[in-house]
Amino acid sequence: MKTKIVFSEKCLGYGSWNVESPERVRTAHEILKAKGYEFLTPEPASEEQLLKVHDDDYVWRVKKGLVEDGDTPAYDNIFEYARLSAGGAILAAKIKGFSLMRPPGHHCGRSGAALGAATRGFCYFNNIAIAVKRLDKPTLILDIDGHHGNGTQEIFQGDKKVTYVSLHKHPNYPGTGSASEANYLNFPLPPDCGDELYLKTLDKALNMISSRTFEVVAVSAGFDTHAGDLASLGLTEKGYEGIGRRIAALKRPTFFVLEGGYAGEHLGRDVDQLLRSYEASVSS
Ligand SMILES: [Zn+2]
Repeated sequence: MKTKIVFSEKCLGYGSWNVESPERVRTAHEILKAKGYEFLTPEPASEEQLLKVHDDDYVWRVKKGLVEDGDTPAYDNIFEYARLSAGGAILAAKIKGFSLMRPPGHHCGRSGAALGAATRGFCYFNNIAIAVKRLDKPTLILDIDGHHGNGTQEIFQGDKKVTYVSLHKHPNYPGTGSASEANYLNFPLPPDCGDELYLKTLDKALNMISSRTFEVVAVSAGFDTHAGDLASLGLTEKGYEGIGRRIAALKRPTFFVLEGGYAGEHLGRDVDQLLRSYEASVSS
């Protein structure tokens, strides 16, 4: 079994000067294509689907382009890009695939910047939250991006159906994610901590969750933990290989939604590494 990848070239149409650039996803797409992955094209999320997660007023502001902040510009037609990326997450959930779409989503809360953060960190709609709400099943969201997913935590805190687990660099943007409570578990890690401490922490995190509490695993798949990237935890290929194995060991239907990861070549190889080890462990 090879995990299918959700992708549309339409997601490359904006923001060429930003750190969250089309280049990173374009390069990753080329690498994954050369490795023989199969690709599926998403449909945009409907407004009804967006409104299951976001406030009316916020959706209206994205539509009108009234959402500029220091990291997150109001690009022309950003509403269309953002809802296609949300649609990518929905399709990934349906086919148990990997959405390789942008913009990312995990910093976006119900009505924009979440839990007191200053910006939305390149995010417009919370793609993974929209897909999880649509599935409406007990879900474990595992956020392996190097930044804390403050938007996802805000959306699901107190929600009995969802457990949110995040490993991230601390201190760092967005400044949240040092404490754990009820259905969200946060594991702040020191910069460049390396594969060994990361995987030990992931084991500890996953051991804290009863497998009876979730039927689906949704992975906020960020790769800016790669050594030298924007939220580096010093991870190497070995780290992503270990993460893939641990996700497979959860033995649940799983889907993946791209978050960060800003060096296209690393991004493509890391996605492949993670999926290969996940698949090898699932089928063994
Ligand atoms: Zn990140």
